Amino acid sequence: MSEDDPAARTGRDERARAATESADVDAEPDRSSRRVSVVGEERVRGVEVDAVTRCAHYGTDRDVVAIRVACCERFYPCHACHAAVAEHDAERWPRSSFDAPAILCGACGTVLSIETYLDCEHACPDCGHAFNPGCAAHADRYFDV
Ligand SMILES: [Zn+2]
Ligand SMILES: [Zn+2]
Ligand SMILES: [Zn+2]
Repeated sequence: MSEDDPAARTGRDERARAATESADVDAEPDRSSRRVSVVGEERVRGVEVDAVTRCAHYGTDRDVVAIRVACCERFYPCHACHAAVAEHDAERWPRSSFDAPAILCGACGTVLSIETYLDCEHACPDCGHAFNPGCAAHADRYFDV
């Protein structure tokens, strides 16, 4: 597992970083803890969701992935957000649906298939923004891997 792949640091990464900084969640804490953030063309639900799909639970500069959860087919930044906001238990995507467009890159708004995400070496294939390698460690919460 490469912690900091130089290939992920492209020029387009700069744009993503600028978007991250403009969100500025630390300077102005959001008091309404439950909200929806629109990223690209998708609505992302959860707790303290920011403009690049980070949330109250996962907030590093690499936590820019939202997952469309199989049960309700809505995007959430993480399983804890789904647990907090959705009023039902989460379901996982079966292997037969790994071609479903279920992963949203919060940096560029591109939606990836599960297959593509699991194969992407912790960086967005479209904009090159680094993804948190830790997410892959609990991919089995979302996908029947
Ligand atoms: Zn759900
Ligand atoms: Zn969360
Ligand atoms: Zn991207």
